[in-house]
Amino acid sequence: MDDQLIIVEAVRRMLIGQADIEFHFVTDAAKAHAAAAALGPTVILQDLVMPGTDGFDVIRQFRTDAALRTVPVIVLSAKEDPKLKAHSFAVGANDYLVKLPDPVELLARIRYHSAAYISRLERDEAFRFLRESQQKLADANVQLQKLAALDGLTGIGNRRAFDETVQREWQRGQRTKQPLSMLLCDVDSFKLYNDELGHQAGDLCLKKVAAVLTAQLKRPADLAARYGGEEFAIVLPETDLDGALQLAEACRASLAELALAHPCTQAGVVTISIGVASLVPAPEHTPADLIASSDQALYAAKAAGRNRVCKAV
Ligand code: GH3
Ligand code: MG
Ligand code: MG
Repeated sequence: MDDQLIIVEAVRRMLIGQADIEFHFVTDAAKAHAAAAALGPTVILQDLVMPGTDGFDVIRQFRTDAALRTVPVIVLSAKEDPKLKAHSFAVGANDYLVKLPDPVELLARIRYHSAAYISRLERDEAFRFLRESQQKLADANVQLQKLAALDGLTGIGNRRAFDETVQREWQRGQRTKQPLSMLLCDVDSFKLYNDELGHQAGDLCLKKVAAVLTAQLKRPADLAARYGGEEFAIVLPETDLDGALQLAEACRASLAELALAHPCTQAGVVTISIGVASLVPAPEHTPADLIASSDQALYAAKAAGRNRVCKAV
């Protein structure tokens, strides 16, 4: 912007015929900011001395506007004055030319600043896009991690979640010397349930069993997982055998009370047998020992008549 039309006209003539340059101007300093905001220029030519207004103030205004803050400003000054020059740069100008500049130089500087500004916008846009993509990817990964640990049918932890949890809690138990307990739960006579009522009814039954087991868990660190088929496992960190037996009995009773009709069990309802084991993790044992112990206890519960809880001996 310049208040003198004669200067504006001279600059306009220098830029005329340049296909890549679009020239707009205002001669009223009060309108400079609004005009720039509306136009979205890639470079601003700014006169310093105007009636009633200080060119420096206009530059300062540009610099406080988020949309114009980084638009390059070339000062068109009446004088080659080191103080004016220093002050121009101090308030945020990017270049300083004395009126009237050589057309070749003016064009070169306009093109240079304009291109730098456009590159900057493109770079910012690319970074924004990159950040958004990275965020989306991170969100998708979190989602994927969750899904990868869940059983598709019942929505509780899957075998992988079980294995990871057992490994992690085994390590933790070795450090804390706290007992780690495990429940292996197996639906009684489930083959007959499927045979009599169909596989879909069997699937629905497994979902309900999973929900019953999950509902019994009280601590955030406890995990209920589908161990495989109609078998479920519950991992109880920092829980001793007595606590684990209590929880197992609560699971068993809670399912029996739900009284899902079963055509072939003694009780006439869907029941589970549960084997319980507990170990203080130590180097002389492995997680496999804990699993084997609870499996043996489960076998004992089945042998003793099903619908009961047995502890490892
Ligand atoms: P027990 O009391 O000794 O445990 O007898 P069971 O019939 O439950 O034991 P068995 O291991 O013979 O049968 C397990 C049955 O569980 C066989 C299989 O068809 C069924 N099963 C395993 N996974 C699924 C599943 O995802 N959906 C359905 N509907 N059935 C399943
Ligand atoms: Mg089984
Ligand atoms: Mg079974």
